[in-house]
Amino acid sequence: MTDSAAPAPTRPRSLSGIQATSDSLHLGNYIGALQQFVAQQETHDAFFFIANMHAITVDQDPAQLRERTLRTAAQFIGAGLDPQRSTLYVQSHIPAHTQLGWILECTTGLGEAMRMTQFKDKSGKNEHVSLGLLTYPALMAADILLYQADVVPVGEDQRQHLELTRNLAERFNHRYGQTFTVPEAHILKATAKVYDLQDPTAKMSKSAKTPAGLIEILDDEKTLTKKIKSAVTDTGTEVTYDPHAKPGVSNLLTIHSALSGRSIEELVSEFEGKMYGHLKVAVAEVVVETLRPLRTRTLELLDDPAELSRVLDAGADAASAVAQRTIEQVFERVGFLHR
Ligand code: ATP
Ligand code: MG
Repeated sequence: MTDSAAPAPTRPRSLSGIQATSDSLHLGNYIGALQQFVAQQETHDAFFFIANMHAITVDQDPAQLRERTLRTAAQFIGAGLDPQRSTLYVQSHIPAHTQLGWILECTTGLGEAMRMTQFKDKSGKNEHVSLGLLTYPALMAADILLYQADVVPVGEDQRQHLELTRNLAERFNHRYGQTFTVPEAHILKATAKVYDLQDPTAKMSKSAKTPAGLIEILDDEKTLTKKIKSAVTDTGTEVTYDPHAKPGVSNLLTIHSALSGRSIEELVSEFEGKMYGHLKVAVAEVVVETLRPLRTRTLELLDDPAELSRVLDAGADAASAVAQRTIEQVFERVGFLHR
């Protein structure tokens, strides 16, 4: 029944990135972002990048940033992204990101940028606040709009930046004529926010206060198990899902559900009459089982950095072809003189 002359149906384009700011991604990055990337690779024309330019909005050591860029790429592939099917690349390899970033900075209001809650959070935590920390959402909008992305899989904490991206796309289109696809955020309600195991009211974050609350996806099995077993739980003894009254237990249920694919209701009924300790053992098992192959593949890839660089170079070539088309059109629209 196949007709080789029929054009392949075009898939919607999915695009997202993760900052190169840690040696290992954490479980929030995995559940909120990377796991969705891997799923979307099956259904979308997929573009995923390592955000090394976003990383320098806060201070970074140069050698460490280079190393973490490769480590993040290895974790993308280790988690199941296939460079043959997804375009994987490094943000700084495509100059058009900064070129469009500048134009979108000039499209963003100062007040609009200052209202971003992530800017308020991060500028409160850092002694030196760079201008880049303020303007980074415009660069993020450029990352997305350059590729005419239809959907952007992210965690809940990125919702506001996505809303800004949509506003900028619409504003630009209105001012200069239809240029950008207005993207949708893809945020899975149930799993969009994984919380710190020691402080289950705070988002699990690379910049966590205590490493004990942060599950790094490259942690060894012993460390993973230990961290999960010492997760803070709540008063009472019953395993129920109630993020307000039982944030610790609810977070563990969310993690289990996201990784095992089983519903929260099913898990709650399985743990009826059992203690928190039983739930922790089960969560530790699912986490260890999920991350074992990911860790093995990632460490193998890191043994051959030249091959990894080759993959990223090929990704940059493919990404660049798409980005270049958009930036040329944008320059034309804005009125930049041709050389
Ligand atoms: P930082 O604290 O330095 O900003 P981060 O942990 O937020 O680091 P990012 O690289 O900024 O990591 O985010 C990468 C992706 O992971 C984004 O899509 C973000 O929404 C998602 N993400 C980050 N933390 C969580 C979390 N705790 N739960 C779910 N998704 C998350
Ligand atoms: Mg972040």
